[in-house]
Amino acid sequence: MSGKYSHNAIKTLFSADTIDTRIREIGKAISNDYAMLTPKSPLHLIVVLKGAFIFAADLLRTITIPCTIDFIRASSYGSEKTSSGTVTIKHNLTVANRHVLLVEDIIDTGLTIQQITAELMAMKPASLGICSLLDKPDARKHPVDITYTGFIVPDTFIVGYGIDYDERYRELPSLGILDS
Ligand code: 5GP
Repeated sequence: MSGKYSHNAIKTLFSADTIDTRIREIGKAISNDYAMLTPKSPLHLIVVLKGAFIFAADLLRTITIPCTIDFIRASSYGSEKTSSGTVTIKHNLTVANRHVLLVEDIIDTGLTIQQITAELMAMKPASLGICSLLDKPDARKHPVDITYTGFIVPDTFIVGYGIDYDERYRELPSLGILDS
């Protein structure tokens, strides 16, 4: 591990309490919206690793309808602060005829979620929604229709609450901007 690694380098954007309140609101909306769609088969959450793992764990516990969970691995950043422009997706998922909700940490240029969505749509889910903790609309290059958004953020580099810089800062309970 190289470079400074200090929590003092982070300017807090959203506290743990603010995140908690917002996630409860999203969980309630998801539970209401899918209640009629999932009487027979549960809502299927697919979490994009690694950044969304804490968000997904908290969100899951606010959902009051039956649901199942699976994981997909996508990476475009490596140890850089800007996207490499190529997205590697690893998965072994079954989504045919299921109501699927993708759970993502950040939608930035939109490339990652667009590629994941294309792969999953080819497997013919009953429906496919997108739930992203953070949205950076100013950075968008590929259009994305986000179903549920936690917070809109400026086009800066965010860490904390599961989201890393070179595998660091995931442990922070809040979300913040990493000084460059
Ligand atoms: P996109 O493909 O939309 O450009 O990028 C999406 C992915 O890039 C996110 O899932 C996340 O892993 C990473 N990413 C985008 N913005 C940030 C950021 O501000 N901080 C961190 N740590 N990762 C980011």
